Amino acid sequence: MSTYAIVGAGLAGAKAAQTLREEGFTGEIVLIGAEQERPYERPPLSKGYLQGTTEVAKVYVHEPDWYAEHDVRLLLGVAVTAVDPAAHELHLATGQRQPYDKLLLATGATPRPLPVEGADLEGVHYLRTLADSQALRAAFAHQGNVVVIGGGWIGLETAAAARQAGCAVTIVVPSPTPLYRTFGPEIGEIFAALHRRHGVEVLLGVSAARLDGDGHVRTVVTSDGRSLPADDVVVGIGVAPNHELARSAGLEVADGIVVDASLRTSHPDIYAAGDVAEAMNPLLGRRVRVEHWANALNGGPAAARAMLGQDVVYDRVPYFFTDQFELGMEFSGDIAGHDRVVYRGSAESLEFIAFWLREDRVLAGMNVNVWDVTGDIQALVQAGQRGAAVDPARLVDPGVPLGDLLPR
Ligand code: FAD
Ligand code: NAP
Repeated sequence: MSTYAIVGAGLAGAKAAQTLREEGFTGEIVLIGAEQERPYERPPLSKGYLQGTTEVAKVYVHEPDWYAEHDVRLLLGVAVTAVDPAAHELHLATGQRQPYDKLLLATGATPRPLPVEGADLEGVHYLRTLADSQALRAAFAHQGNVVVIGGGWIGLETAAAARQAGCAVTIVVPSPTPLYRTFGPEIGEIFAALHRRHGVEVLLGVSAARLDGDGHVRTVVTSDGRSLPADDVVVGIGVAPNHELARSAGLEVADGIVVDASLRTSHPDIYAAGDVAEAMNPLLGRRVRVEHWANALNGGPAAARAMLGQDVVYDRVPYFFTDQFELGMEFSGDIAGHDRVVYRGSAESLEFIAFWLREDRVLAGMNVNVWDVTGDIQALVQAGQRGAAVDPARLVDPGVPLGDLLPR
């Protein structure tokens, strides 16, 4: 009987195990995770769960009994310390060895540590795990001064949750707008204005130079010399992919673990998916590493099918979503190479679709408080990435159904 091992019991790993069984694999499946929790989804940790509106039972990928019922051996609280591709064996932190015939690496990513003095003081938080979210929720309940360092997704979503919990919140963002690298110069200002309207102080072009305290953090000193009072600090300055196992096993690693369009690494029996994988996306014509929920949700199953020998071409349009205060949005596509952004609807009204264009081809689209349009936007992105142009005047006209713009 063959054994398929999955390292990383997050969303990508758990969905891969599910797909192996759904596709009729009858061999042994072992799913190994360093965390004590069974696989869970992270989006609620900075939104509903953090705000106390989503109960913990809702965050898990499967019911507790699912693993036994589907004959998936789930090893929790066990880190894999090495992969031996020649011996087809995993080394576990327990000292045991786990043989495998095929292997999926779904090890995700780890928050980058804040590289300044005082970053190890108590009250300095990161947000990746359920335990991190629980700790933040308890901290926000004190309704004190919260300083958020970083204007990415963690920074903005956590700032919104802290503000909604009644804290005084300041975000320290080194770039000219929040989400500068994700969206380019235009869109981030919409997020800054949203937060300011809700009473968040948003400091742009400013970084944290030092944290001061007496064991517990008390002050964040900024690069422009301000001293911000802080009962708690949240650091959200990006993540680093967990690719050490692959690198030390001699697999090709760049930013993430390099995989082809079927999510296979440079070793024929080893695959990678989710945040850690840097996958060739044939639609975009380049390798991308996507750090979002939908990529774990779909990438794990795609890798599982490839492990079973099916022809897999993982060419999905990158997709993610956020919820902050009254703003809900979905984004589809890849802005690389865009030459302008156009709007269907008005950005001020917070009900619009933004499109990133290159020579009138749609490269990406973001719907803000406009729903049930993701299918059409993704079809426009697919057409645009393949070279089809649209009429920009019709694209921005809310009277023209998006479906009418698709090439026939
Ligand atoms: P992970 O979820 O990181 O899981 C990997 C698992 O592997 C971890 O449990 C880790 O402990 C384990 N592991 C690592 N190394 C080893 C080892 N050597 N041995 C054993 N186990 C190991 N995306 C969106 O699109 N929308 C959102 O709204 C959104 N919200 C988010 C909110 C938060 C707070 C966070 C942290 C992320 C959010 N994301 C969101 C991103 C999304 O959650 C990630 O892209 C997704 O979790 C990636 O899944 P993964 O399975 O690849 O990796
Ligand atoms: P992120 O989205 O990559 O944003 C990190 C931000 O921190 C960037 O704006 C970055 O600016 C900035 N930064 C980098 N170094 C800094 C420093 N020393 N001081 C201050 N700011 C600094 O990462 P994240 O917000 O930490 O989120 C972690 C992971 O969770 C990411 O993979 C993210 O995609 C995921 N997540 C996703 C969602 C969602 O999709 N809704 C929600 C939560 C979390 P530059 O870009 O200019 O370097």
